[in-house]
Amino acid sequence: MNITIIGSGYVGLVTGACLAELGNTVFCLDVDARKIDTLNAGEVPIYEPGLKDIIERNSAAGRLIFSTDVKASVAHGDVQFIAVGTPPDEDGSADLKHVLAAARNIGKHMDRFKVIVNKSTVPVGTAQRVRQAVTEELAQRDLPRLEFAVVSNPEFLKEGSAVEDFMHPDRIVIGVEDDATGARAQGLMRAVYAPFTRNHERTFYMDVISAELTKYAANAMLATRISFMNELANLADKVGADIELVRQGIGSDPRIGYSFLYAGTGYGGSCFPKDVQALSRVASRFGHKLNVLDAVDAVNDSQKRVLADKVVDRFGDDLSGRTFALWGLAFKPNTDDMREAPSRVLIRELLTRGARVRAHDPVAIKEAQRVLARDFTNAPRLLEHITYVERAMDALSDADALLIVTEWKAFRSPDFAAIRARLKQPLIFDGRNLYEPALMREAGIDYRAIGRSSRIPPPPEPVAGARQTSWQHSGW
Ligand code: NAD
Repeated sequence: MNITIIGSGYVGLVTGACLAELGNTVFCLDVDARKIDTLNAGEVPIYEPGLKDIIERNSAAGRLIFSTDVKASVAHGDVQFIAVGTPPDEDGSADLKHVLAAARNIGKHMDRFKVIVNKSTVPVGTAQRVRQAVTEELAQRDLPRLEFAVVSNPEFLKEGSAVEDFMHPDRIVIGVEDDATGARAQGLMRAVYAPFTRNHERTFYMDVISAELTKYAANAMLATRISFMNELANLADKVGADIELVRQGIGSDPRIGYSFLYAGTGYGGSCFPKDVQALSRVASRFGHKLNVLDAVDAVNDSQKRVLADKVVDRFGDDLSGRTFALWGLAFKPNTDDMREAPSRVLIRELLTRGARVRAHDPVAIKEAQRVLARDFTNAPRLLEHITYVERAMDALSDADALLIVTEWKAFRSPDFAAIRARLKQPLIFDGRNLYEPALMREAGIDYRAIGRSSRIPPPPEPVAGARQTSWQHSGW
């Protein structure tokens, strides 16, 4: 099938590459000429495991085209996926200007039936606005009868495993309008996704509004689990419990499950922060308040400061003369994405308090330099106090402590003796709870993680005739 992808960012590029890999001929459009030049030069502008190989293979086979030519992009695909960004507006609602510009371009140039697919994450009612934009353009061209369908097909891939997620989706959500063009669109969408459902059906067909809400609901639920655990972790720190043991204790309940219950330095990235806020704005437009989600957002904001707060607790407000080693810059492992990354909040806190930072990330250093230059436009001299190092261990030299912000696999089993030897004192602030506190104690490291300050009670003395349950806490 001929398919057009509008917007060649994380979602568009992965979608386009994977659909080409399955035999489709895919035209990837972007307004960013530099991005298109980079792709045509054989480079991939983002880091995503497996993506470069697929792009190389399918470009060479002529199944993947990168271009800024809008007219050609509209002519190419029977199905037009809109995968442009939907950044937050000033009030937190999703800014639809790119989505509507893409829709207008389709209306300006289409000359046969098109299925227009919203793959961008968009608020309830966007399909209707896309329909209206295309209709207006067609009316201007005196083509009011030219048919098209608008479909909602939100994307659930995760950065860092985007190719794998796209190729093996746990569900495909397709929202279609309840009319003849909707039925025609459903047929085409079924054909696009047929290779993904050979093993078993995993497509949920629904109305457009439910599909739009499903995407926000999924991200809001995941964000809620994270903020919930972060709040409990902060309580665990106060009462002397270990949030990891609590996670396992509750995760064993199949109604709860283990996933997405890790305490840390808050969620970041291009999706959760903006989608939580956008859903809240959608609700308020309808006169409805989402109290839980507003709290999720507020908890996350303060959680991003949790490591800085722990550093200040230990070293005081004034950090001048101090140096901190930082492991991890990207908002999560296996990506170089720095959007809303907690490391940015931490770096700002450390630098403005006078500290120096020696930072390492396996892939995100270049992107971090770009993004931090923007964060510090008002205080560019502070950036002179960050040094980037290619090897994790090199960050530790002369540092007062190691701070871990991203859970890259390479950080999981470091040489603790070497860490001790390089740091000025054996002190780790771990924003991702990578290590076992008991092992850290054995290694002589002062280990400060998120919600893991339990005082493990000594094993109970067997007392003749007395029964003691394993959970009795001897500390209180
Ligand atoms: P991105 O910023 O990486 O890419 C968007 C691209 O669209 C950019 O390259 C931009 O130049 C291009 N663009 C903007 N206007 C255009 C236009 N009129 N015509 C052609 N190209 C245009 O964004 P992303 O992370 O890929 O996200 C895209 C959408 O997918 C967002 O709505 C996001 O919420 C959603 N989403 C993202 C993820 C993720 O993990 N990144 C996952 C699921 C859903």
